[in-house]
Amino acid sequence: MTRASHRARPLLLLAGAALAVAVVALVALGALLPLVTGDKAETRPAARAVTTVDLHAALARATQALSAHDRAAWDEALPATSGDARRALDVLYRHLVRLPWTSVRLVAEPVRGRPGRFYFGAVGEVGGADPADRIMARRVFDVALRGGRPVLLDDVTPKDVRGQEIMAFARPVAVRRNGLIVIADKSEQAGAEALAGAGAAAHRRLALLGIRSRGPIVVYYYASREQLIRSLGEDPKEPRIRFFSHAPDHLGDTPTWTRDIGVLAPALAGKESWTPQMLAHELTHAYTTRWFEGTKHAPTLLAEGLATAVEGGRTFQPLRDDLAADRSAFPLEKALRAKSLWKGNRIEKVRLAYLEGASLVLYVMDGWGLRGLKSFVTEVSDSDLSDEGLDQASRESLGVSWDELRSGWTGFVQTLP
Ligand SMILES: [Zn+2]
Repeated sequence: MTRASHRARPLLLLAGAALAVAVVALVALGALLPLVTGDKAETRPAARAVTTVDLHAALARATQALSAHDRAAWDEALPATSGDARRALDVLYRHLVRLPWTSVRLVAEPVRGRPGRFYFGAVGEVGGADPADRIMARRVFDVALRGGRPVLLDDVTPKDVRGQEIMAFARPVAVRRNGLIVIADKSEQAGAEALAGAGAAAHRRLALLGIRSRGPIVVYYYASREQLIRSLGEDPKEPRIRFFSHAPDHLGDTPTWTRDIGVLAPALAGKESWTPQMLAHELTHAYTTRWFEGTKHAPTLLAEGLATAVEGGRTFQPLRDDLAADRSAFPLEKALRAKSLWKGNRIEKVRLAYLEGASLVLYVMDGWGLRGLKSFVTEVSDSDLSDEGLDQASRESLGVSWDELRSGWTGFVQTLP
């Protein structure tokens, strides 16, 4: 399953609409507590507002402390006047220090319209995985100057931001093996190790699409659905979500080369032998996201087709039954045009679409090779997906009409397992 990123905004620490709404809610709460805010105002009547520049030195020292695993230096770099702020810094440090950073820095950005309030973020590269400006944790602090030095007054991080990414795990561990960086809770380490162990077999399957991995992939191994939602910062609104990929949350606005993978651990129970195939499926999403870069569309059917073809091991009998029926439950062209194969569809229909996608990928590869497949995926994705658009895409990439392609595909499906 692929999951579109809802955090399309390129901006640093604004996690999109959810955070904006939450911050607004906090502002309203502040207005309801005039005693508290009035109190704070009195203690610093003439102080000028803190700027990002004021924070530079403190952030640099905190970054250094984190890299050196020097807790005392961390506390010294970021002094706090309240228990909440101190606790937030403590939790941040204990989480961040457990990650295998290739590079890391603490950054801050002012919250617009709220002088003295800043988004703080831990940004960097984890274990050599793309991208280099991954955001792994965020906090929102009220900051003031004391004797010219910034001091954290309060932690005002909205609830849905608090547990995002690494912060969803109480004691995170990162298991690095077979081109995977599996992030899990310490209590789930055995499961995370087993998942990472399946990475070798999963990677071998990627040879089907000529994918040679370009660096490791981050896999979040969730102990529960609640943890999954906390880490994503929002409910994906799809109760059937188990294994998926998503664009990493990162600072810049350029698309990432790869995607992260999410695995809901309890959903794997009793299906351990299927793990390498599940991983191969999600790794295909992680590595083929660039196939769709710059095209007008990224048909989910093609993305799932690539992933399901690599996954392997499925029977195509349900698709043969559908093709033999008077009326298809989900005609290929309609499935190609569907933005989501999941939304509003029963699981049988979703599975049928996955088989359609996989068999189409396998058929094109069988007849036109990997280059033909890449060209086909690009042309189809760049078409308007209308009947005429698909016909033109097929002619340009494979030299046959859509009707010819479709009839060849129907025959090919009969030869599949
Ligand atoms: Zn998928």
